Amino acid sequence: MKCVLCEASTDTVLWQDDHLRVVYVDELDYIGYCRVIWNAHVAEMTDLGDADRAHCMRAVYAAESLLRTLLKPDKINLASLGNFVPHLHWHVIARFRDDAHFPQAIWGTRQQASAAPRARGVALLQQLRQGLVHQMGP
Ligand SMILES: [Zn+2]
Repeated sequence: MKCVLCEASTDTVLWQDDHLRVVYVDELDYIGYCRVIWNAHVAEMTDLGDADRAHCMRAVYAAESLLRTLLKPDKINLASLGNFVPHLHWHVIARFRDDAHFPQAIWGTRQQASAAPRARGVALLQQLRQGLVHQMGP
């Protein structure tokens, strides 16, 4: 069966090593949306050993803390679903009270026709990249 997360993708990679990659998800409604994708095709956190699990969460927490620092969101949403794509990945999403789906999950019912767009640009990507290197290593 084909798996989109096993295939080479066009994602904007912010940081990666042999085990995982942190990518920026370019969503119109969400300026602060990262995904931590485990490279090997496993479905669940408990498919990983303790060290790998800790490494995966370290990347999730690094992305979370950077989004908090850089964007000052009202809330961070962390989600690991994988019902459609059973390949271990975490969504790390900065949420704002005036975003398109708040207080629903971003996959829930849209609450507003259009959320106020926020400037992001290249600076945010550079800051995320630098911050991840700082927290995770080169
Ligand atoms: Zn896969």
